[in-house]
Amino acid sequence: MSLTVPKYIVISDRLYNDAEFMIEYSLKTDKEAGGMLIKATHGHFGIASEQLGEGREIMLKPNEKLQEREMHYGSVHTHPQTDLASTGDVISFLSDKNEKIMLVVGADKSINMYFKTKKTPIGDFHDMIRENFEQKDMPEMCDVFNFLWYKGNDTTLELQINKLSDYDLEVANETATAEELADLLGLKGNTDYPTDYSIKKYPKKEKKSKQVPWLPTQMYDRIGWNQHGI
Ligand SMILES: [Zn+2]
Repeated sequence: MSLTVPKYIVISDRLYNDAEFMIEYSLKTDKEAGGMLIKATHGHFGIASEQLGEGREIMLKPNEKLQEREMHYGSVHTHPQTDLASTGDVISFLSDKNEKIMLVVGADKSINMYFKTKKTPIGDFHDMIRENFEQKDMPEMCDVFNFLWYKGNDTTLELQINKLSDYDLEVANETATAEELADLLGLKGNTDYPTDYSIKKYPKKEKKSKQVPWLPTQMYDRIGWNQHGI
């Protein structure tokens, strides 16, 4: 199956400014900050339920109700020490069907947005990820788990990967909005926060073990994860 995605996406000035405000705070205090990624009534992604973590981990939980016509898509959090999502973040991203988009603001102030596709599995991949990947292997994790990663240092983010194992990925030299990309991927927000939504973002110590190459597609069946439709 082929999937054509834009090379660049644009986020709103407001989302960018709120994310930069959070990382400035985190860099000053060495504490993570975060919130819920929502689509606001004006139709753009934004941050709600802003909250602070304890040092270098954060338990993200909605602390308010969504307003009418707002939609919940996932989470936002900062990394005062590293520049991209951690393996722990990927584990929690994959474990929760309500987390459709994850935004991580790196210590380099970069905005990293991870989008699920229809082929992203949902399940507990804790052991598999811990055994096979380190934080620097983000492109390989995107490939194996079929999710997209865009990164940028202003409101324009660029696709960071060139393949996904379950799609023929085609990259169009175009720019779309982040919201258009979510629609293209069939990601639909929830009209309220799930009642039990709580997602822990924790940077576990990365393994220093030998690097194991990513798993070939044929190994999927042996791992036995659940394919799902988002
Ligand atoms: Zn994190």
